[in-house]
Amino acid sequence: MAAERVKAIIERAREEGRKKLLEHESYDVLREYGLPVPKAGLATTEDEAVKLAESIGYPIVAKIVSPDIVHKSDVGGVKVGLKDADAVREGFRAIMKNVKEKAPSAKVTGVLIQEMVPEGLEVIVGSTRDPTFGPVLMFGLGGIFVEVLKDVSFRIAPVTRYDAETMLTEIKAAKILEGYRGAPPRDKAALADIIVKLSKFMEEQELVTDVDLNPIMAFEEGKGAKIADARVLIKA
Ligand code: ADP
Ligand code: MG
Repeated sequence: MAAERVKAIIERAREEGRKKLLEHESYDVLREYGLPVPKAGLATTEDEAVKLAESIGYPIVAKIVSPDIVHKSDVGGVKVGLKDADAVREGFRAIMKNVKEKAPSAKVTGVLIQEMVPEGLEVIVGSTRDPTFGPVLMFGLGGIFVEVLKDVSFRIAPVTRYDAETMLTEIKAAKILEGYRGAPPRDKAALADIIVKLSKFMEEQELVTDVDLNPIMAFEEGKGAKIADARVLIKA
């Protein structure tokens, strides 16, 4: 059962004393609940990185995987748009060098080689477990909309399909989802689906304290959405 497989992954992380799933583990647990995660694999050497890139298909994204690093781009730990084997090798080395310089005490598990998600509107779906209300789901647009304007909507779980669709309309910048200045309308059904599935995940997985899907690329209507970065925090 999906719920049991997820619990096993979480239990293993806790046994290692971790309060955070590694990025590939996050995708493994979210995939079990039908969330749209990118293809990805963990490489510990340059050769492995190239092998993975070739099986996923170029272009790819390379990211540092470390239990001690939360914001990967802050330490030069993310390289996007790597187009061939040489670029993957160079990216792998650059990430290792940057992390050694900027986070010298961080334990490095490896480098995640991930499908490059096509460009879309960047949105965020998150959840935190409130001690009183239980899981609370959050939706917003990426970048300055969340970070500067705090333009987000919330619901307490369980979030129904109708609730999720309403959440999409409640942010101040909701019009951007409808298309503007030549940009297409976005696949709101796919976004509502992500919110509902994350709500179910939070309800069933009581050891998960926080989930941050940031960014999710929202494609045009009918084309879906895909998660490009996922953080899952668990109870110690
Ligand atoms: P962090 O949030 O830890 O700094 P991310 O994994 O979110 O790192 O990567 C930083 C940025 O790189 C993202 O906000 C996104 O714009 C871009 N990015 C990351 N992964 C992908 C991907 N698989 N496809 C396309 N763009 C990506
Ligand atoms: Mg991110």
